[in-house]
Amino acid sequence: MAGCIKIEDGQTFSKEMFCIPQHYEDYLESVLIPKGLILNRTERLARDICRDLCHGPLVALCCLKGGYQFFSHLSEFIINYNGTSGHSVPFSIDFIRLKSYENDGSTNDVKIVGGSDLSSIKGKNVLIVEDIIDTGRTMEKMLEVVSQYKPAQVKVVSLLVKRTPLRSSSYRPDYIGFEVPDRFVVGYAIDYNEYFRDLNHICVINKEGIEKYRT
Ligand code: 5GP
Repeated sequence: MAGCIKIEDGQTFSKEMFCIPQHYEDYLESVLIPKGLILNRTERLARDICRDLCHGPLVALCCLKGGYQFFSHLSEFIINYNGTSGHSVPFSIDFIRLKSYENDGSTNDVKIVGGSDLSSIKGKNVLIVEDIIDTGRTMEKMLEVVSQYKPAQVKVVSLLVKRTPLRSSSYRPDYIGFEVPDRFVVGYAIDYNEYFRDLNHICVINKEGIEKYRT
């Protein structure tokens, strides 16, 4: 099973210790993972992924929208490693959008709501890049969709996996950045009703934030 950095329940940083946009200060409880740590961990994930997967053309498939920052930084590290590690493979990108969350809760209904034509992944190694695995249902659906396009191999990397033993389908991705407590998180492109994407660190939203930005 993939190793990862485990963030224990209650292991957070005071938001006063970091630069938080003023418009969000009152709506966050704490910082869970500072951006610097995210980037350091992402660099190592890129190395592990290249060592396992860079044996033929690699397609990184970005799960929109929450995964775009992680996808962007991970792709950059993969491209650097792939270009400097002795042997290299063609690397391309694609996008898909699935939706399962309403406000701050997961629903049973996972829908594909956009993305590109995936016929180009046929016969290639595919890396699905996701922001968060909660119950695991979104990724199970995604794997069903992607396998219809007959890739050579599919691996999944998720920046976060939540500890949700009672809700989880017990799905685990191949590569994990951090295992985190079962809290609703925002920042680093992960949104709450389209807010908080413009926040550098992954943070825990507070009750006021949930109310303020509820649709
Ligand atoms: P799952 O299908 O695994 O229950 O949910 C996965 C999706 O739910 C993620 O891709 C993400 O979009 C959303 N999600 C799960 N937990 C959180 C969270 O704490 N914050 C936000 N903003 N989205 C979440």
